[in-house]
Amino acid sequence: MEKNEALRALVARTQVFLLDMDGTVYVGEKPIGDMAGTLAAVRASGRRIVYCTNNSSRGAESYKAKLRRLGLFAEEDTVFTSGMAAAALLKERYAGRRVYLVGTDALKAEFAADGIPLSESDEGAEVAVLGYDTSLTYEKLVRINRMLVQGKPYIATHADDVCPAEGVYPPDAGSFIQLLKRSSGREPDVICGKPHTVMGRMLTAALGVPASRVTMVGDRPYTDIRFGSNNGFGTLLVLSGECRAEQVASLPASDTPSAVAESLNEIAAYL
Ligand SMILES: [Mg+2]
Repeated sequence: MEKNEALRALVARTQVFLLDMDGTVYVGEKPIGDMAGTLAAVRASGRRIVYCTNNSSRGAESYKAKLRRLGLFAEEDTVFTSGMAAAALLKERYAGRRVYLVGTDALKAEFAADGIPLSESDEGAEVAVLGYDTSLTYEKLVRINRMLVQGKPYIATHADDVCPAEGVYPPDAGSFIQLLKRSSGREPDVICGKPHTVMGRMLTAALGVPASRVTMVGDRPYTDIRFGSNNGFGTLLVLSGECRAEQVASLPASDTPSAVAESLNEIAAYL
C-alpha cells in the first residue's frame, strides 16, 4: 500500500484516540474490516481508546454492551456521551442547582448517579437541559418552553438534526432546538456535544492529556472533524462512513482533517 505520511505523523503524536462509532468502527451491527485486531494493536502500543458520541438518548453502559458484543471494547476503554459532558458542565457551572431535564430515563439515571438534583417539573427548577429525548411529550415541551421564556439557563446536550438509523433518520435534539426557538425565541446558551468545545474540554480534563496528543477519528467532517479542530486535537477522517473520497478536496478549512484514511484499520501499519 502507498505510504500515508500525514497518517504516520498523526499516529506518532497520538496518545489518545477519540473514536466516533457508526461509520468509524462499525456500520450498523457490522465491525469495519478487522477492527477488533486494529483496536487491540492500538491498546498494545500503549495508546488509549475513548468512544465519543453525541447521542444522549442512551447511557454509556448501553454503548459498552454493543461494543463488547462486536468485540470492540476492552475494560481499559472508555465511552463518553454528550449527556456526560452536560452533567460535567452542570457540576462545574451550576453545582447544586435543580435541573429540569428533557431526556430519556437512561439520561436521567446518569445525571442522578452523577449527583445532579433533578426536578420532575419546571416549577422550582433553575436550569433547563435538553437531550435527545426519544420519550418526548407535549407536556415536556410546554414545561421547558416555560423555563426558556422565563430566561432560565438553557443547555443542550448536542444539536444533531437527525439521528443515523435504518431507513428514514428520525428527528434528534437539533430539531427539538428549532421547535423551541420558534416557541420561545431562545437558542441554547451552551451546546455540549460535537462539534462544540464543552465535550472536548471535559474529555481532556478527565483524561489528563494535552489536546495536542489527542486525535479525533470520525466519518462526518462537519461534526467529528470540526470537533477536533475546535478543540485543538489532531483529526483523522475515515472514508468508511458518510464522506466520500471526492468530497475531501472541497471541505471548508474547519472540516479539513490532519489525515485521511480509507478506514481506521489503515493506522495499524503506523502503530
Ligand atoms: Mg459516524
